[in-house]
Amino acid sequence: MQPRDLSDHVAYEAGRGIEEVARELDRDPSEFIKLASNENPHGPSPAAAVAIRETASSVSSYPKAAHADLTTAVAGRWNVTDDQVWLANGGDGAIDYLHRTALEPADDVLVPTPGFAYYGMSARFHHGGVREYALSKADDFTQDADTVLEAYDGERVIWVTSPHNPTGSTMPLAEIERLADETDEETLIAVDEAYGEFADGESAIALLEGWDEFEARDDIAVLRTFSKAYGLAGVRLGYAVVPDEWADAYARVNTPFAASELACRAGLAAIDDEEHVVRTVETTRESRAYMRDNVDAHVWESQGNFVLVDVGDASAVAAEMQERGVIVRDCSSFGLPGCVRITCGTEDETERAVATLNEVLADLD
Ligand code: PMP
Repeated sequence: MQPRDLSDHVAYEAGRGIEEVARELDRDPSEFIKLASNENPHGPSPAAAVAIRETASSVSSYPKAAHADLTTAVAGRWNVTDDQVWLANGGDGAIDYLHRTALEPADDVLVPTPGFAYYGMSARFHHGGVREYALSKADDFTQDADTVLEAYDGERVIWVTSPHNPTGSTMPLAEIERLADETDEETLIAVDEAYGEFADGESAIALLEGWDEFEARDDIAVLRTFSKAYGLAGVRLGYAVVPDEWADAYARVNTPFAASELACRAGLAAIDDEEHVVRTVETTRESRAYMRDNVDAHVWESQGNFVLVDVGDASAVAAEMQERGVIVRDCSSFGLPGCVRITCGTEDETERAVATLNEVLADLD
């Protein structure tokens, strides 16, 4: 038996870890720092690490109570009902749940390019088609409703990444609202806020719920993750906040035990440790500003925990930086062959990354 025709499916290209790179180059892992996957340089909250250890002895049971507790904690954080919080195996899992709920066979999704690859992959798994809207380098990757509407042709789901990976640009809430207003009632605006904690503005959950000047809407869903600001990428925990009207759909679409007991316990502890997130966000902002001010190349304004740098030949620069012990992301696979993306690290990591990048740029010139 052969697999179904997967010729349209492209494998997800995950960033390589330090161990893997060091082994390939036959070098010692301690020579490297990795600023390539937008991970938290401070690690998880210590309280989350304790919670994971303490959960070890009970993992023979299926998750239940912690799942419910975390759902309630997240719902409380955003002032929504428990039914509107859909826990998942990372933000990636939440993308799948939104597609499972929204897409009929052969429906299309509209995604940004450059952009995060998993939206399209997931849509294809759900027998959907993928169309793109372009964010323009010449226009500093500015995100507004018109840019999306120019490409819009009745797709069932529109993905907006705000802050956007890999550029760091955001779409203002008023523009997201206009996009929702000017698209079909049956089109869902899915706002991916994986990097939301690092941004200055309010969450699009405000639009969903009708906070302040915004009316409550039923055509917006928002994705969040514990992988970035909370430093829990390895446990795989994320969620979608969905319209009230979708409340009973989760039970029908979720993979049983959508988030593991370890993930839920870690998430609960992490939510309680505000201080860890505040510190992470503060150092991220400092790192972002340092890179913007000290890199000898154009750095775009970013609201994420990374910056995009215009280096000319991304694969050459990333390879040479790696040779010198700093692993960054070559954005060729995002369709930006002239750019590298550098994650905000600790102060030492950031200074080393900038010094290395500047040396490489000078040497390759
Ligand atoms: N959305 C965006 C824009 C991302 O960059 C990522 C992580 N690379 C995710 C979603 C998913 O992250 P996770 O599954 O780790 O929550």
